[in-house]
Amino acid sequence: DNRWSLKGMTALVTGGTRGIGHAVVEELTGLGARIHTCSRTETELNEYLRDWEGKGFEVTGSVCDVSSRAQREKLMETVSSKFNGKLNILINNAGTGKPGRTVEFTAEEFSSIMAVNFEFVYHLCQLAHPLLKASGAGSIVLMSSVAGVVSLKYLSAYGATKGTSFYHRVYVAGPELLDKMIDIYLDNFASGALNQLAKSLACEWAQDNIRANSIAPWFIKTSLVEPFLSKKSFTEEVIRRTPLGRVGDPKEVSSLVAFLCLPASSYITGQTICVDGGMSINCFD
Ligand code: NDP
Repeated sequence: DNRWSLKGMTALVTGGTRGIGHAVVEELTGLGARIHTCSRTETELNEYLRDWEGKGFEVTGSVCDVSSRAQREKLMETVSSKFNGKLNILINNAGTGKPGRTVEFTAEEFSSIMAVNFEFVYHLCQLAHPLLKASGAGSIVLMSSVAGVVSLKYLSAYGATKGTSFYHRVYVAGPELLDKMIDIYLDNFASGALNQLAKSLACEWAQDNIRANSIAPWFIKTSLVEPFLSKKSFTEEVIRRTPLGRVGDPKEVSSLVAFLCLPASSYITGQTICVDGGMSINCFD
């Protein structure tokens, strides 16, 4: 029974040197997959590649800024030649958040967040399609955010991507936290779009036996959110609103990523799954 094994499978994980991506690389390789990863920082990437080699993991990597179209094309060429034109797993993990209030968001900032958090994902999926199809069984996981699932009051541009109406659930936040949330979660736009993209790809590429799902984490302890979590009062507020009473660990996200890539999840596609300690269903505080 190979339902719980990724042996013989190949995967591309973007942003594998830190945080969630790093945990995903280790999780998938532990289940037997061969991985290619990327990041923008050569020294850090090489450091981890050496570390993984030492542990006997089959992980290769190349420098790539996924916000560049040309670099994405080069990345996929590298992946194609490494894995003989076949890719089972695409984990679109790299991403970032751009703080800024809605009314102060410039056109350039808006384009920039769409380019980094959404356009690159869309394009990488396009580029990966022939490889995923050739593998015979493909799985795409989009790293979204719980901010693309729940709607934070006053985030008027929430509907901008027209992506999340299915998922419109109202999260009743107190005004004080809400203020801080608006600053952090402008990547809301892109996350909603990602959740919708997973649904669209799931239907369009089902005939090629490619599944697509998205994962929506709440606060996970990584370098991305360290500046926020280092503020004691902020963390206390986050924890107070999270039924499980704590923030998450990257390994608690990578386990779900792995499940969505395993043959064991072969009938699950087009879903958005929150990894959030219950935050998104906690309307009563
Ligand atoms: P980190 O910032 O800790 O790690 C990001 C990783 O991606 C690093 O390896 C980084 O390396 C790489 N990366 C970032 N930008 C690019 C780029 N343009 N091109 C290539 N590689 C890049 O982030 P997290 O692990 O916290 O986040 C991973 C994903 O999860 C993101 O999409 C984020 O939006 C999402 N998420 C995270 C949450 C959290 O609480 N942590 C909550 C909700 C969603 P380098 O900088 O060297 O390029």
